[in-house]
Parts: sequence; C-alpha cells; structure tokens
Amino acid sequence: MSAKELEGKVSLVTGGSRGLGRAIALKLTDLGSKVAINYVSNDEEAANVGKAIESRGGEALLVKADVADSKAVKNMTRDVAKNWGTIDILVNNAGIVDDNLLLRMSDESWDNVINTNLRGAYLCTRFSLRYMMSQSWGRVINVASLAGVVGNMGQANYSAAKGGLIAFTKSVAREVGSRNITANAIAPGFITTEMTEKLPQETRENILARIPLQRFGNPEDVAELVAFLATDRASYITTQVICIDGGVM
Ligand code: NAP
Repeated sequence: MSAKELEGKVSLVTGGSRGLGRAIALKLTDLGSKVAINYVSNDEEAANVGKAIESRGGEALLVKADVADSKAVKNMTRDVAKNWGTIDILVNNAGIVDDNLLLRMSDESWDNVINTNLRGAYLCTRFSLRYMMSQSWGRVINVASLAGVVGNMGQANYSAAKGGLIAFTKSVAREVGSRNITANAIAPGFITTEMTEKLPQETRENILARIPLQRFGNPEDVAELVAFLATDRASYITTQVICIDGGVM
C-alpha cells in the first residue's frame, strides 16, 4: 500500500475509541486521512486514540454521540463537516453484544443490540451520504460480522442486526453507485478485542480448533481490509460482503 493515498480525505469512524475502531482510525491516519473518532462513553480511551493519531502526525476530532440517537448523529456529522468541510469515508463500526439464548432474551436486549448495530449504521449513513453525494465520491464501510452471515447460537439479536446491516449495505450501494460512492460490508470472525476477551476459555479453544490459520485475528488485520476498501484501488468494489475470519469452519 503506497503511503498517504488518503491524503485530503475526511473519515468518520464510529466506535473508534477501542478495539477494531481504534486500529481502523490509526490505519486511516497512516494513509493520510483526517479521522473523526466517534464513541459513546469512554472519554479517556477516545482521548488516547486522539493522542495516538496526533503523535503519528495526523489530525483527530473526537465526536461523542450515541449512534442510535438521530439528533446526536445529525449534530455529529454536522460537526465533522463544520470542522473539515465534508465526510468522505464512513466506517460504521460501533457495535455491542448482549448474548443470550432466544428463550431467555429480554426485549430490552433485543432493542439495544438492534439499535446500536443496525439503526446506528442507518443514521450515520443517512446523515453522511449528503456530503458524499454532493462531491460524487464516497466510501461506506460497514463492520458486520460472521454471525450476520451464518448466524450464531446465543446471538439472535446480534446476528439479526449484522445480517440486516449486510442487506442495508447492498441496498445503499445500489442507491448511490451512480454518484461514485461504494458501500461494502466486512464480516470479521473472531478478532482479539475487549468484546471477545469476555468469552469463556473453553469457547475460545473450541473456536480456535475451527480456524485453519490457527489464530484469532487482530484488529490490525481488519484495519488493513477497511483501509483498502477506502482507497481508489477498491473503486470497482461495491455491494460486497468480505469475510475476514482466518477461514473459520
Ligand atoms: P469493542 O472493543 O467492544 O468496542 C466497541 C466500540 O463501539 C467502542 O468504541 C464503543 O465506545 C463503541 N460504541 C458502543 N456503543 C456505541 C453507541 N451506542 N454509540 C457510539 N459508539 C458506541 O468492540 P470491537 O470488538 O472493537 O468491535 C467493533 C465492531 O466489530 C462491532 O461492530 C462488532 O460487532 C464488530 N465485530 C467484532 C468482532 C470481534 O471479534 N471483536 C467480530 C465481528 C464483528 P465506548 O468506548 O465509548 O464504549
């Protein structure tokens, strides 16, 4: 990947304070993009990402907002555009899990997971697209999950949200392709972050046994794929769902 190929671009990474979002934000910075870091509560971690970006010579903007809150998302996208003129690259990465078997799942758990993972991506995309459309260039990159492709026991809420996100991505891509905007989803398997560190040891070992590459992914593996999709080298890729999972069976 040649250096600085995203020079002059403005990225908004939701859930950028930790895990995959942090690695994605740093990778986009390394390619020359200014990066707005969205998060919902973790001021300290978000500030750390901001500092890490600046120490690499990049420009960061912290934009705290609940992605499921329409008004907050509208203000956030305006805030980014007010500071940097536009939004070129949107990475819908903010996500939560709240696992339980379906018969024990509460309505609240269902709603929270759907709202953050699916409604959040819908709102951020809707409010960012206007900038991309007016400049006839844009990238929407949605962080779905393998669970959204094949389902997962105990994750009916999360799988539904991520499966919905995949279908949403394809529809958006078809709507805005004529404006030179691509929309793709990525479907990570098991990546080492706080989200997966909570899994019991036995579950982790069972999963590992099903991964031909014999390791969990790391956030940088995912960041490489997102960064590629953001560049002009990926300008003819749209409506796709790209699994990044070590070949898990
Ligand atoms: P993580 O470490 O738990 O980080 C979650 C991020 O989302 C944090 O930055 C958090 O902000 C933010 N967030 C949560 N709710 C939010 C809301 N309502 N509004 C705005 N931001 C919110 O998660 P991760 O493992 O990096 O996962 C990132 C994405 O990858 C998620 O969409 C997840 O579903 C997907 N994914 C992960 C894996 C994996 O193995 N890790 C696999 C497949 C897909 P705060 O710091 O402020 O809480």
